[in-house]
Amino acid sequence: MFHKVLIANRGEIALRIQRACREMGIPSVAVHSTADAEAMHVRLADESVCIGPAPVRESYLNMPSILSAALITGADAIHPGYGFLSENADFAEMVEAHGLAFIGPAPEHIRMMGDKIAAKTTMARLKVPLVPGSDGEVQSLEEARAVAASVGYPVLVKAAAGGGGRGMKVATDPAGIEEAWRVARAEAKAAFGNDAVYLEKYLDRPRHIELQVLADGEGDVVHFGERDCSLQRRHQKLLEEAGSPALTPAERERLGAVVTAALREIGYRNAGTLEFLYQDGQFAFIEMNTRLQVEHPVTEMVAGVDLVREQIRIAAGEPLGYGQADIRLSGHAIECRINAEDPETFLPVPGRVSAYHAPGGLGVRVDSALYAGCEVPPYYDSMVAKLIVHAPDRPAAIARLRRALDEFAVIGIKTTLPLHRRIIDDPEFQAGTYTIHWLEKFVGRGNPPPA
Ligand code: ADP
Repeated sequence: MFHKVLIANRGEIALRIQRACREMGIPSVAVHSTADAEAMHVRLADESVCIGPAPVRESYLNMPSILSAALITGADAIHPGYGFLSENADFAEMVEAHGLAFIGPAPEHIRMMGDKIAAKTTMARLKVPLVPGSDGEVQSLEEARAVAASVGYPVLVKAAAGGGGRGMKVATDPAGIEEAWRVARAEAKAAFGNDAVYLEKYLDRPRHIELQVLADGEGDVVHFGERDCSLQRRHQKLLEEAGSPALTPAERERLGAVVTAALREIGYRNAGTLEFLYQDGQFAFIEMNTRLQVEHPVTEMVAGVDLVREQIRIAAGEPLGYGQADIRLSGHAIECRINAEDPETFLPVPGRVSAYHAPGGLGVRVDSALYAGCEVPPYYDSMVAKLIVHAPDRPAAIARLRRALDEFAVIGIKTTLPLHRRIIDDPEFQAGTYTIHWLEKFVGRGNPPPA
């Protein structure tokens, strides 16, 4: 097992990983920018290193600085969390080249899945169903027109290097394809430095359903059921559930069998999530994330597993030690992302938290680095807390969530808490019939929460 783990992240996920290390008896090292010197992940750390100024390029994305921090403190492994360097194959390679373990997949798999076109090509070869669309990259506007005509409008132009919902544009008819093509490419170039795009049929009422997997790279691959992440705005998730209100046990099993067979075939190692759109009883793969996801806690709650601990064990070379038959899913879990943002415009609103009270009680978990008096800096992601509840069934989970949301107080900054309170009281949410387009309509039909 590792002697010391450096956590190359900040906020709630840095704390989450620190907690797993501590329970495993492994000392950990926190890194931070100058803006985060007083952050909770630093205050609770065994030791910490300042890796640069506030802008992410100079700190949390600064590979030489992070690697130096690991070498200076004698860490023998690095956990990247999510975001930042977690899906950077060059960083994983650099870590390994310096004799440290990267707590994540092999660089070749990060690279393969980081290019969404390569990911889709690989999944097609492994008999995983895809969203209909272009066969690889679309090289010209003429080709985009031809593909759109053959799959049928509406279509989505998507960036090969896309992430976080950026570089994605819909064309509803032939008149809109030129603009979608131009804007998606420009956005992709600006955000990712790569303007390669591909085309997909734009599904009108899908759910976003993703499968959590763990693999030890030695042939053992298991899944922990699905998460339903259909509640999104601007293609970004806001509330996630495990399991999906829409899936039958037979469908879960069918999807799990396809996915685990595919990952076994490519020799995948560590944690991963395969994302699908699900409509009319059909699954269609959209992408794979080769890292821990923000919403992993809902899976942990229903499966009774510590996914970060499993990631660390696998990276240290331990076999999985259990099979699919050993995995039991029980009850229902829901996660709300609490973002420091204006509830009407969804724009980030940083500031100082003057008072803070987190809910508690049976089946309630809060993953957050907030504390009374802390400063939410403007430089980083606006998500400041995750509220997760677990109960024997979905109605009980919603009742528990309502109770926990009412207890939750974050004073001094605007957050998405009021929006969550309204969502869970909506009859369509309670019926579980929502699709990926539901939340934007909900907010748009005069339901923005009071500020
Ligand atoms: P990103 O990596 O930027 O998150 P994804 O490919 O995972 O991009 O898609 C993000 C979200 O965008 C999906 O969860 C879904 O809501 C929407 N989306 C993606 N592809 C399609 C599609 N073909 N049809 C309809 N919605 C889509």
